[in-house]
Amino acid sequence: MVRDNDRYDAVVVGAGFAGLYALYKLREIGLTVVCLEQGAGVGGTWYWNRYPGARCDVPSVAYSYSFSEELQQEWEWSERYAAQPEIEAYMNHVADRFDLRRNIEFNSRVTSAEYNESAETWAVQVHGRSTGIDARYLVFATGGYSKPFVPPVPGADDFGGELFATHSWPKNADVTGKRIGVVGTGSSGMQTATAIAGKDPAELYIFQRTPNFAVPARNRPVDAEQAAEFKKNYSDYREASRRSRTGTLYEGPEVRGAAMTDAEFEAHMEYAKSIGGAYVYGGVVDFAIDDEVNTRLQDYLRREIHRRVDDPETARRLEPHGYALGSRRVLIEDGYYEIFNKKGVELVDLREEGPIEALSKNGIVTARREIPLDMVIFATGFDSGTGAILAVDPVGRNGQTLRDKWADGPVTYLGLLVNNFPNMFMIAGPGSPSIRSQVLVSIEQHVDWLAELLVRSREQGCNTIEATSTSERRWTEHVDQTVEGTILARHRDTQYWGANVPGKPGRYLAYVGGVGFYRELCERVAEAGYPGLSCPQGDTRREAAEWDGPPADMRAPTRFGNTVI
Ligand code: NAP
Repeated sequence: MVRDNDRYDAVVVGAGFAGLYALYKLREIGLTVVCLEQGAGVGGTWYWNRYPGARCDVPSVAYSYSFSEELQQEWEWSERYAAQPEIEAYMNHVADRFDLRRNIEFNSRVTSAEYNESAETWAVQVHGRSTGIDARYLVFATGGYSKPFVPPVPGADDFGGELFATHSWPKNADVTGKRIGVVGTGSSGMQTATAIAGKDPAELYIFQRTPNFAVPARNRPVDAEQAAEFKKNYSDYREASRRSRTGTLYEGPEVRGAAMTDAEFEAHMEYAKSIGGAYVYGGVVDFAIDDEVNTRLQDYLRREIHRRVDDPETARRLEPHGYALGSRRVLIEDGYYEIFNKKGVELVDLREEGPIEALSKNGIVTARREIPLDMVIFATGFDSGTGAILAVDPVGRNGQTLRDKWADGPVTYLGLLVNNFPNMFMIAGPGSPSIRSQVLVSIEQHVDWLAELLVRSREQGCNTIEATSTSERRWTEHVDQTVEGTILARHRDTQYWGANVPGKPGRYLAYVGGVGFYRELCERVAEAGYPGLSCPQGDTRREAAEWDGPPADMRAPTRFGNTVI
């Protein structure tokens, strides 16, 4: 029997950090909501990425929700940087505490979403669900790192061993006593390799294409007394984070490298290393705009590799060269370099050996040799920023697909809305600080801003919210111009420019004007009655006022100060 589509005010796609909070908030403002999640549990990226060593490299006190004072007071993290199981447990706790599960449909992958112009609703189809869903609002909470990218390697079907990827790690995979190959040395590959090296594999080969800079994390158990003390001022900490450059507050004072003598710089770096995390490089605030300072930091980090890795040849191969520190994601590690001092661990430098040519029955084949392996693990990253939304490829007005609209890269208004796709919203999507910010801060800001917009629209009796094409173009130009003023524009062979996925257009995927600056821009838009949106400016027949760019009294993002790198 064919049933009519189910009807809700809003569909939220994804039950990760963004989806859970969107569900909570939209329900709070009185909407009927269904959250569709393709996994069997909550967590999003933290549900799927359960590979050995998976851990967040943002301190847990920051990488958590701030919307509930009770929640942030009652939850106790066990480590400075939480491991995946603890983050997943936290997200399950949130789902239970706020009774979110009753509105979540698990094992529900959205296959299509199409705007119905006459009904002013979105028609959403879900794999395996007998009925579709109609909703006024469609909210993508699909995450910046949820559509994996695994390079097509010839012979994958011939490989006789186990073949895994970090983003879909199976339960109970055993690495002990096996010959393991890890392909990729980004955050996922580095964490996986470090953890596996501690589980007594027979041999471990790490296939590195581009070496990354890395700084020590200094993970440690949380001291209960210090945590209690910290929580006394939690809301102040959160507010400062919201107004910061990246969404994360550093745990030491900021310095300027250009003003330091060599001895002062060395002393500062020793101190910064003892603090650990992003502060090690980010505490030197001029590293992103001053080439000399950037090089000074690079040299320091390269020397560190030689200090920690016994074999000088391996240390040389691990050295990053040819790009500025910060243009690629800086890794935050605990014990990564030391694994290369272990017997049976080998760095395979694909720049010297040539690319991986194939998988054979026995292992991985490079131009130089065949490396016999029992298990191959791909840690090759994601179709970042746009991949998950474009996997659904929503269809807007006049049958236009988003893939078509974004053929030259994402165009958005504030990273939140898209012209021709009315009532469709993205949380931490492209064109917002998203994947270059502490994403929990971005998520909460987006959801709060959106909820207020929906309330105001309802008050105005206006059903259809849509970005104008002029304001969308201006915002996208602003996003482009902002990144062009930074070192990020000089090195375009990164996932942030889409360069890791063949055929992906080369537009920078995030707004790097700074989290605090972006927040204020959004606040100003709301205060001004939402220029750039067809609604809720009142009379919807009136021409919408346009967004004119950052207001004159706001310090425009410059090469210094408020870019997020
Ligand atoms: P990633 O940073 O994109 O790294 C992918 C790695 O795979 C790179 O080393 C890349 O080399 C390599 N690769 C890709 N194709 C290859 C090929 N054909 N042959 C050999 N190597 C290949 O992906 P990720 O490590 O999964 O991280 C993705 C994002 O997730 C990061 O930006 C980070 O923000 C986030 N993340 C965070 C954490 C954390 O909080 N600790 C943990 C994991 C991930 P090239 O560099 O040469 O392309």
